[in-house]
Amino acid sequence: MKVDLHIHSALSPCANDDMTPHNIVNMARLAGLECISVCDHNSFAQQKMMAHVAHELGMKYVYGIEVQSVEDVHICIYFLEEEKGALFGQWVYEHLLPIENDIRYFGNQWICNALDEFVNQEKRLLIQSIDQGIASIADRAHELGGIVSLAHVCDKTNSILTQLGFIPKNLRFDMIEVKNEPQKEKVLRMHPWIQDPFWVRNSDAHYLQDIGIYEDEIDEKKFYDLWRKAL
Ligand SMILES: [Zn+2]
Ligand SMILES: [Zn+2]
Repeated sequence: MKVDLHIHSALSPCANDDMTPHNIVNMARLAGLECISVCDHNSFAQQKMMAHVAHELGMKYVYGIEVQSVEDVHICIYFLEEEKGALFGQWVYEHLLPIENDIRYFGNQWICNALDEFVNQEKRLLIQSIDQGIASIADRAHELGGIVSLAHVCDKTNSILTQLGFIPKNLRFDMIEVKNEPQKEKVLRMHPWIQDPFWVRNSDAHYLQDIGIYEDEIDEKKFYDLWRKAL
């Protein structure tokens, strides 16, 4: 199954304003993708509409959110059920400091309807850490039936390897996001205890042209099995 499971919509302040539901899904179709997930920073507010538009256009959709932990580590959490994901999104939002977004500095945080119209603007700044550590975020995600992906694991900013220096042995995670083979080798060299990891290559697209750049193909059955294994 060809996927891109880490795309930002116009709700993320750092993403372009043209990252609207139809634009994202149509770009994903042009890129030949079969399944996508939008993971906005610390918010689930665009998920219902994203799934609606994706399904309308024949694209599989997995609900997602990219959470920034108190250690400044980014992890993507995925759900198969909208309701459980929304509960998790609410929990994240409750742990987000009530700092208002400065549009001039950080950018817009648009919420779109099914016609790609901007209907609302999230007021609280989404691009900041929540007051919870990575382990407690992973625990809460699993409690609600989500799975945990270590986002852009080798990046110089906001990755677990940069922020903590290593992946803790007792951290419950289900997926590792990398950009290439050398990154996989690095992770395994540093953590020989990791058994049979599920790798995924996602774009982390903030602009339409970046959607699907890695054209990653994953085993569909193994992917959906991750939720069963995480129970
Ligand atoms: Zn990130
Ligand atoms: Zn991201």
